[in-house]
Amino acid sequence: MSKKNARDDATDEADLRHNWHPFTQTREYTANPRLHIVRGKGCWLYDATGKRYLDGNASIWTNVHGHTDPGLNAALRAQLSRLAHATYLGLNHETGTALAERLSALTGHKLPRVFYSDNGSGAVEIALKLSLQYWQLSGQPRRTGIIALRDAYHGDTFGTMSVGDCGTFHERFRHWFFPVARIPRPHHVEVNGHIHATDNGIPALNALDALLKRKADTTACLILEPGIQGSAGMRQHPAGFLRSLAQCCRSHKIHLILDEVFTGFGRLGSMLVSQTEGVTPDFLCLAKGLTAGYLPLAATLTNERIYKKFSGTTAQHRTFYHGHTYTGNPLASAVALKNIEKLDALIASGKLAKTVATFGDSFERTFAPGHPHIAAVRQRGMTAVVELRPRAHRTAWPENLRAGYRVCMEARRRGLILRPLGDALLLVPPLVISPSEIRFLMRTTLEAINTVLPSLEP
Ligand code: PLP
Repeated sequence: MSKKNARDDATDEADLRHNWHPFTQTREYTANPRLHIVRGKGCWLYDATGKRYLDGNASIWTNVHGHTDPGLNAALRAQLSRLAHATYLGLNHETGTALAERLSALTGHKLPRVFYSDNGSGAVEIALKLSLQYWQLSGQPRRTGIIALRDAYHGDTFGTMSVGDCGTFHERFRHWFFPVARIPRPHHVEVNGHIHATDNGIPALNALDALLKRKADTTACLILEPGIQGSAGMRQHPAGFLRSLAQCCRSHKIHLILDEVFTGFGRLGSMLVSQTEGVTPDFLCLAKGLTAGYLPLAATLTNERIYKKFSGTTAQHRTFYHGHTYTGNPLASAVALKNIEKLDALIASGKLAKTVATFGDSFERTFAPGHPHIAAVRQRGMTAVVELRPRAHRTAWPENLRAGYRVCMEARRRGLILRPLGDALLLVPPLVISPSEIRFLMRTTLEAINTVLPSLEP
């Protein structure tokens, strides 16, 4: 990394002594140069020496308007001077309520009920529990089955690991998972609006239909990430797939849970994928971009019919006994409100569509077919993936060679932060990235690939 200074050394020492970083092999982390971020501005993060790095994964897919955005900062400061936190358990505050109203409006008030939590896994757990309790309260306790897609990712808690299908990430905990029926995910490959391959989601739709014909009356819900399965490696769904799935769920009277934790808030060019596809789910899970990458906040939205089912006297035990300490935090809610206001303007002005077009063009040009180390590419909205492979006939590098990781470390040396998924590079920048920053992102990613991978050939 860049030249060290005393401040960086002290942080590094304390980091090595005390931190345990998530989704990170500790030995690899400690053996390699570490990067300590001290500030952010726009799409850039800075270390203690002032060296800057383009935030190519939008701080794990959250950042919308850039770092230290003046509008978001002002909203946060204004809220801070009024109220930092008050519990939402049996108590209310105006900022959380204003946000609930705004979120409801995003769904055309078809999902007017908002249940807050503070991360994406929580939002999904809540949707699953609400669905299961709803069927119990409706006199249909046999409806306990849950359906999810192959390669799904919904979080790292036990419930979300159970509905997920993440191979090595979660495999060792499989013994404690609850049973989930799986349907295939669509096979669809798209770059810059050009479709290179698609099965139109037909195998998935057929599998769902067949499953529900046998088991609808013992099924509670289907859960999926609409549009793109991000953690599966930006696996795309064809347009119209969600609508067909939703129709199937409706005709068999099971709940549809949409996990828009990743896709929500502009990532695919619109506020919500469900909105673009004209689908109203029974439960909608939001997090990540909800606060534009500022603070932990999540929400599970549902309709009035489901909400009413939970109403009764305490002794009737219809209450939904779930809640988190920082549920509906006012600081996070204030930032989320300002985020939605700004994102609305970004979308309405056509600026986001322009950025998506530039991102798609640049990606398509940079990663044209034929590169000896690129096995596959996909891009939609502000998401892209480059799957790497060895030049020769072998289909993959040995896992411990860490090809993808090495490329990301080279990109970092060149001033770009990327996070690999195995040997795939995920490109997920803040939504306000400029054309010149997009060029830097693409060029640096390619340079890092070209620098590292030839040296890994046998
Ligand atoms: N759902 C999806 C689609 C996600 O991509 C993620 C995180 O990447 C989650 C849920 C879990 O969110 P969190 O990490 O906030 O718990």
